[in-house]
Parts: sequence; structure tokens; C-alpha cells
Amino acid sequence: MQLSKKYSAISPSPTLTIDAKFKAMKADGVDVVGFGAGEPDFDTPDHIKAAAIRAIENGETKYTPASGTLQLKKAICKKLQKENGLTYEPGQIVISNGAKHSLTNVFGAILNPGDEVIIPAPYWVSYPEMVKLNDGVPCVLETKEENGFKFTADELDAAITPKTRALVLNSPSNPTGMVYTREELSAIADIVVKRDIFVVSDEIYEHLIYEGERISIASFSDEIKKRTIIVNGLSKTFAMTGWRIGYTASEPEIAKLMSSVQSHATSNPNSIAQAASVAALEGGLDFVCEMKAEYKRRRDFMVSRINSIPGLSCKKPAGAFYVMMNMKELIGKKCDGEVIDSASKFADLFLDRALVAVVPGEGFMADGYVRWSYATNMENIKKGLDRLEAFVKTLI
Ligand code: PMP
Ligand code: GLU
Repeated sequence: MQLSKKYSAISPSPTLTIDAKFKAMKADGVDVVGFGAGEPDFDTPDHIKAAAIRAIENGETKYTPASGTLQLKKAICKKLQKENGLTYEPGQIVISNGAKHSLTNVFGAILNPGDEVIIPAPYWVSYPEMVKLNDGVPCVLETKEENGFKFTADELDAAITPKTRALVLNSPSNPTGMVYTREELSAIADIVVKRDIFVVSDEIYEHLIYEGERISIASFSDEIKKRTIIVNGLSKTFAMTGWRIGYTASEPEIAKLMSSVQSHATSNPNSIAQAASVAALEGGLDFVCEMKAEYKRRRDFMVSRINSIPGLSCKKPAGAFYVMMNMKELIGKKCDGEVIDSASKFADLFLDRALVAVVPGEGFMADGYVRWSYATNMENIKKGLDRLEAFVKTLI
């Protein structure tokens, strides 16, 4: 029977596929170490869990408004004001089942068939698929490692066509960890305004910046704010991946479209998770600071170990919790007679022979690289890098 051509053209998320493989091996008792999915290894803080328990006990177990509770929308507005210097009304906020859901809502609300979306590469695996799901055309803007994996405002200007509807901006970036400076963002904002396109600003890693400044592109002027749709969520900042709360802040007309669709597609995100998210946003950032200090320690260790191994290298990422390892010098080498001809082949053999799960670059449009997530404990990181060193020594 004929199934949807649109859905059939979508490939499963490679990050989640690797993670599922890693978890299955682990469940089988294999001594595998995972650096696949970018998921904080920290537990959700106790005060957030307590708020969820209270919500259950208080009977907050019913439908809420489809786009989220007023209480959580107010807490998000307060956060945007305090942390980002941005003024939004609750009617401009839509709360969804994770930032992934928010992003698909956004592309649904701003795209018509054939509209182009500029996605700088290396990119997070889901952006192009989300654009395609909403009848848009992903257009890749390549960046280079020697330029810090950043594009310039001039390169953006040159990439815009009459069909361009939006730019996806993800700073700090998954997978490269790159963070744009104030000057770079301001120049990008000028082009977005001049060419009158939207910017979908995925700020989910905003609190994980080790060098540099936290700044939302929406904050430069009213003109850019009108064209920005901020996407954020609780998953990374508060170690709440399983709770599934993400949100957008946008012009009211865009929020209205997304709320309508959400009211049919999913209704409200989980009422208990919403109550817990209020406690997260109002509970201060002490936990985040502690988590960040630990991530920085891990990053520094991982970067120096990788750079000490002949044939491998990586730049020090300024944010998020990923390292992009350049393995181009290993291309052509052999492992037990099998030629390493790609990052995927490297990742397959590394998992099979050395029992370490990493994500090959192809899914991020980054051939010759593999992504390591350091959202795992130091013991695992040491083990994984020891195995890397030993594995590379066996290649001829
Ligand atoms: N954006 C980026 C860049 C991500 O890495 C992720 C990873 N999960 C998401 C959005 C989605 O996060 P969630 O759906 O858990 O809120
Ligand atoms: N965003 C994380 C990652 O890139 C989690 C997995 C996913 O949602 O794709 O690993």
C-alpha cells in the first residue's frame, strides 16, 4: 500500500539511533561507553521534583490550556526579561512537548511549500528533517573548522534568495559548541532585517557558555525581535530531558498559529511537567552554575586528550557539551583489514571493536568528524579516551 512520500523521505534521528544502540548493548551487559546522545547525566534538582509531586497531590492532573498554563508562560516571560533583557507578554509564548516539538511548530507556522530555510552546517540533525516535514526546502550554508565553524554576515547575505524565508541560528551550537560574539550576532541581525527574513533562534544551550557572552539575537532592536522566533526549553539547562518541556517566544500572530495547531495535534504538554518547570525557572541558577563548572572541567580534559593523539584533533568549543573530533587523517587506514573510508565507518568500528559510542559527522553534514558528548561522568570520559588512544594505535 502507498504510504506518505513525505514521511518516507525522513530518516530517523542518528543521535537517537546511536543512543538506542548504546543502551541496548549496555542492557545486554556489554561494557560499552556512550558519548552519543547529548543528554545531561545530572539528575533533575530536588526542588523541581518536589514541585512535580506537589502538583500531583494538588490535583494538577487535568488538561491545561493547549499552549500551556498562564503561570508557566508568566515564569518564561520573567526569565526572558531578567536573563535576556527581552519583553514578551504571555500571549507570545507557546509551551510544547520539548524544544523539538516547538521547532516543528515554528516551521509549520512560517513556511509555505517551496520556502527555503538556511541551515548553517555542521547542524543539529533534526533541523533539515523538520523543514522538509513542513514542506520547506533546507538550504545548507557550510562553515569551516578553520573559521571556528562560523558563517559571516556577508556569507549569509550571499546565501539568501527570493525564496528564503528563515535562517536557523543555534548558538551555542550542537554539534560544534561554537558561540557567536555580540559583534557577529549584531551583523547577522542587520542582514536578517535588511533582507526581511525570519530567524529561528534555538537558544537551548544558552546557559552552557564557558567563554563568551550569553546574548539573544532578538535583543539588538525591535526590528530584529519582530523577525525572531526564540526556541528554548528546560531539557539542557535543568537536566530535564525526559520531562519534555520546550517553548517559543514570538510575535503574537505566529504564537496564535502554533497554538491552534497544537490544540488539534497534541493539546497541552504534560500538566505536571509544566508545574515543575515553573519551579525550575523560579528556583535560581545555582544548580546550573555547578553543572556548568563540571562540564568545563570535562571539556578541557577531553580536548587535551584528543589533541594528544596522533592523527586526531579538535578545537576547544566555547559552549554546549559537544566536541567535534577531526579524524580526516585516519581516512584510508585499516582496522583488521577493513578500510576506514568515512566517519561512519570509523564510528562503526570504534563501537564494535573498542565499545565506544560516538556520533559520526555525516548526520551533521560534517564528513571527517565525529561528535563526542561530554554530558557523561569523568570516569566514562577517561575510559572512552583511553580506548580511543588504544584503538587508534591498532590502525595501520
Ligand atoms: N535543539 C538542539 C540544538 C538540541 O540539541 C536539542 C536536543 N535535544 C533540541 C533542540 C531539543 O531538545 P528537547 O526537545 O529535549 O527540548
Ligand atoms: N539533542 C541531543 C543530541 O543531539 C539529543 C538527541 C536528539 O534529540 O537528537 O544528541
